[in-house]
Amino acid sequence: MSGVSFTDVRKTYSDGTIVAVDDFNLEIADGEFVSIVGPSGSGKSTLLRMVAGLEGISGGEIRIGDRVVNDVAPQNRGVAMVFQNYALYPHMSVRKNMSYGLKLTTDLPKSEIDSRVEEAARMMGIEGMLEKRPGNLSGGQQQRVATGRAIVREPEVFLMDEPLSNLDAKLRLHMRTELQRIQEELDTTTIYVTHDQEEAMTMSDRVVVLADGQLQQVAPPEEVYDNPANRFVAEFIGSPTMNFFDGVLGGGTLVGEGFRYELPPDRVDRVEERRTGDHLVLGVRPERIRLAEPDDRDSIPAVVDVVEPIGSDNYVYLLIDDVECTIRVPSDVRPTEGDRVRIAFDDSDVHVFDGETEENLLVSAEHRIREPSKAAQ
Ligand code: ADP
Repeated sequence: MSGVSFTDVRKTYSDGTIVAVDDFNLEIADGEFVSIVGPSGSGKSTLLRMVAGLEGISGGEIRIGDRVVNDVAPQNRGVAMVFQNYALYPHMSVRKNMSYGLKLTTDLPKSEIDSRVEEAARMMGIEGMLEKRPGNLSGGQQQRVATGRAIVREPEVFLMDEPLSNLDAKLRLHMRTELQRIQEELDTTTIYVTHDQEEAMTMSDRVVVLADGQLQQVAPPEEVYDNPANRFVAEFIGSPTMNFFDGVLGGGTLVGEGFRYELPPDRVDRVEERRTGDHLVLGVRPERIRLAEPDDRDSIPAVVDVVEPIGSDNYVYLLIDDVECTIRVPSDVRPTEGDRVRIAFDDSDVHVFDGETEENLLVSAEHRIREPSKAAQ
């Protein structure tokens, strides 16, 4: 098996006028499960298709193991891809769909092909469906066939492009755990593309966040959540999304519309070191804000706009002057709409972003993947 490495990988379309992927660098370890997440158009599929060999590479180098694959034909790269629409042949049985690629690209004896198909079908729980046609299967079963077809190839690398997007919510949750189980069992390097940050966060060893073809951050899920490298990552990861409050720093206190927040002295030093101007943005996640006790230091007055129960918790939408703020509180905390309340949060849950570069000024150097000067360009 093999890892995958990207060195200064670039992809442009239309004579260089569209930059789909820009100077992308990443080392994926052998056996690792890496998700690539980002909004539509951020370059996720292009990256995956370049590894598969379905798209050419405009610049840089992609390696699978220690082999540069830039000019290697797709069928010789040792990869197997699972597509969102499954791409099954409708006129072939499940068995044929799963064995066809092997018959075409290897000279394995029929007995070996049969036993690989049966083993993959067993892993995917579709042993009883081998003689059926895809049209007679549910969406979930077709997804299993598509994954089984990738497994029989015994690839060095699995490439998965939104493989669960066409399933209903409940089945999607179930298949997440199934795919994780299979990946752990086979220990095959996996690159998984999704626009669903929750899928990326729950399934992967590391999450790659992309925006406009540029790598924003690559880190284990909890680190992306706790130490987002910049405002884009902070906003994209986590639901409901992080709250942001614009302010101006003076004498260690951030002052914005309807609030003052005194930064702890050690944090003032870190912010001072890297900020490019006075405009800063405070960020706090909804689940890290509470309704305050009257004596909470620096609590902020707000008015309750809407209360939305979600069962285990309540989302409370507040207005701080005219700025919207969402908090997530236990279900027994249920203020009334129109109430005047105070909110508070711990210093350790506060993120501070530069108003210009949007870099997180509090994350230490090892979490940053770009220098502030480049981010500001
Ligand atoms: P994602 O998978 O994140 O939605 P894509 O990789 O599909 O993003 O696309 C990245 C960018 O490249 C987008 O701006 C898209 O419009 C552009 N793009 C993708 N394929 C082509 C193509 N064949 N020709 C021109 N532009 C393309």
